[in-house]
Amino acid sequence: MTDYDVIIIGGGPAGISAGMYAARAALKTVLLEKGMPGGQASTTDKIENYPGFPAGIPGPDLMLKMDEQARNFGMEVRFTEVLSVSQTQDGNFAVITFDGDITGKTLIISTGAQSKSLGVPGEEQFRGRGVSYCATCDGAFFQGKTVAVLGGGDSAIQEGIYLTKFAEKVYIIHRRGELRATKVLQEKALAHPRIEFLLDTVVTNILGGDKVEAVRVKRVSTGEEKAVAVDGVFVYIGKEPSTELFRGFIDIDERGYIPTDAKMQTSRRGVFAAGDVRQTPLRQVVTAVADGAIAAVAADEYIEHGK
Ligand code: NAP
Repeated sequence: MTDYDVIIIGGGPAGISAGMYAARAALKTVLLEKGMPGGQASTTDKIENYPGFPAGIPGPDLMLKMDEQARNFGMEVRFTEVLSVSQTQDGNFAVITFDGDITGKTLIISTGAQSKSLGVPGEEQFRGRGVSYCATCDGAFFQGKTVAVLGGGDSAIQEGIYLTKFAEKVYIIHRRGELRATKVLQEKALAHPRIEFLLDTVVTNILGGDKVEAVRVKRVSTGEEKAVAVDGVFVYIGKEPSTELFRGFIDIDERGYIPTDAKMQTSRRGVFAAGDVRQTPLRQVVTAVADGAIAAVAADEYIEHGK
């Protein structure tokens, strides 16, 4: 006897979708989430490429709708932190959480990814005092101010554009001469009168007193350095998978991602992974929800026939 058929760890789009498919298949399903429901998607101002919303949809709205839909089918949600996972002698799984232990026949890992830190002096010191990793959460504090966004990928450019809602001036600082972001986002940002690009440039130091006052930047090709006055720094230099908890329990690749087969099966039978946390060529809401659906159906098959 176990408490649940399916235990899902992580409540972003992959986890919620897995929960919806599992609960709809009449599996007793719980989703465990330690922080904000909706994961990274909930920190995105507007999602423009999720099918069905031609005008785009705010990330938090999309995630609330997904959550409601999954709960309508019977998915339970517990807000708690997972401390460890293990397999019991009878082949089931034990999940130790901050609020007690839970057992399940299968596990779906959808813990996603977290923002990478830059690792320069001042970053830790000013975290929450001008250094942020979430424009949707903190952008409004910078009304009429000047901010720097670090990175050249889709996140940096999209969030840089978003920050112009509040900030008087947005610097986008990127280490190479060309951006990684998709062309449509690049064009929007390049045309924006209040965005200035500092390309071929890295931030070497974040400076200030009580709060951020400037960044020290270095031109990569020439080594030339200068200080740029800013009130805030938004770091968008990519993500790293949240897989520390599963080291030694399942295989994890050298970059921290979980390898799976086409059915989202990990190296341990009965344990599935879905979304940004797994090895995958594309990390988007649309791929995460697809992974979640496949993982839930595979978990159902495993419970029926697999053990
Ligand atoms: P990303 O695509 O990995 O881009 C990270 C950026 O940070 C790159 O430009 C990289 O520079 C730079 N960078 C990395 N490490 C750095 C360091 N130590 N110092 C300075 N710069 C550094 O990450 P992301 O923008 O967070 O996007 C993650 C995934 O989500 C991507 O697949 C992206 O397409 C997707 N996404 C999609 C959308 C959308 O479709 N609208 C929106 C957001 C995110 P280099 O270019 O030189 O490597």
